[in-house]
Amino acid sequence: MRTVATMMMSKAKANQLAIPRINGVKRLKLPTASQIGRVMVCLASWLLTRFESAANALMLAGTEAHAELFQAIEHGKEASFDTTGIFAWLAADGGSKPEGELALAYDSQTDTARVLGKNIDRAYEKHGADQSREFCMALDAISVRVGSSEGLARTGRVLDLKTGRSDGDVWQLKLNALAAARAFDLDSVRACFWYSATGQIQEWEWGAMDLAGFAQELEDVRRNLVAAYGHTPAPPAVTGEHCGWCRAFANCHAQVGLARSLVAESTAEGVSVEPAAFAALTPAEAGVAWDRLVSAEALLKHIRAGLEGYAQQQPLQLADGRVVRPIEARRESINGKIAYEVLAAKASEVGAAFTLGEVWEACPPSCSKDSLKRVLGKDGAAQALELIGEAGGIEVKTYQQVKAVKP
Ligand code: SF4
Repeated sequence: MRTVATMMMSKAKANQLAIPRINGVKRLKLPTASQIGRVMVCLASWLLTRFESAANALMLAGTEAHAELFQAIEHGKEASFDTTGIFAWLAADGGSKPEGELALAYDSQTDTARVLGKNIDRAYEKHGADQSREFCMALDAISVRVGSSEGLARTGRVLDLKTGRSDGDVWQLKLNALAAARAFDLDSVRACFWYSATGQIQEWEWGAMDLAGFAQELEDVRRNLVAAYGHTPAPPAVTGEHCGWCRAFANCHAQVGLARSLVAESTAEGVSVEPAAFAALTPAEAGVAWDRLVSAEALLKHIRAGLEGYAQQQPLQLADGRVVRPIEARRESINGKIAYEVLAAKASEVGAAFTLGEVWEACPPSCSKDSLKRVLGKDGAAQALELIGEAGGIEVKTYQQVKAVKP
């Protein structure tokens, strides 16, 4: 069978160009696929001084899951998460044997891409990339479908594994798809985020026109980055949900501006935050206060998202000695149907701690610890929870939460 590796050789010699130096100092490196989404929205996020993040539990878990997927694809080893769906998706429509961790470099000036190697641990330049002109990436998994005779479409599938809770940024997939299309002469590409924790998938299909559009947008961004690099002031920072995980957060003038405007809004003349002053507000003043409240809420949301992203990379120090950092939290949810069945059966027994009527009140259509405690009392709820747990009616989910904790 013709594999991706055998097809990549024809592209291996492209783009041996000189590295430009900008302002005679450090050269600009273009963002990689995992960073491109934020840069497409906020150019400043790539041009302001960024800090390196220390590896945290979330990142390590992600690295491990990617290594497991690579081992599963390349060596048939079992992963700690279900890969059946991943292999089925890659093999659909007569896909080639999939390949994992394939590093590519895409040049938006020539609209070409080449393969750098496999499993190179993001060391793109060591493997020949020129990141001042090439966008680099590692495809978690790829398979291709090449028509057996002239005229048949050449298509590919690229998959990006996501281990976190947040949604992936579609620009990452767009860049992956475009590079795969150019490296392997594909007419169209189907691309997906695969969420290992839930087995859920988000997928897109892009044809030649879409891919050409992505190429143009990437070239525009490259040009804008080169033009702005090393110049002051930096381009305007554009705040939003993408601020989470932004490595320039600590140096971002917009974030500082947001915090300042928040303070200014809440103390503005005519809008006091004292509860006693509310009685003296006219309807018009209250309307102004409402508008400011709404804008302050939006500001707070952005500030929180940015600070949480900052804390994901390095703990924030609080004045009382605590630190704000990601912790693993657990959430238990009760399956209302199982709870009702198991408790109704128990209630029918002689000497049961609760009646069928109470079970009916506490369970359907949903059931929670609170509803059980409210209706059955503390002891009854404890017994009920034990029974529901034994019947497999309690699902425990773990997730990351950013919180202030003791160091
Ligand atoms: S924190 Fe947000 S607004 Fe500031 S540079 Fe980063 S992405 Fe842009």
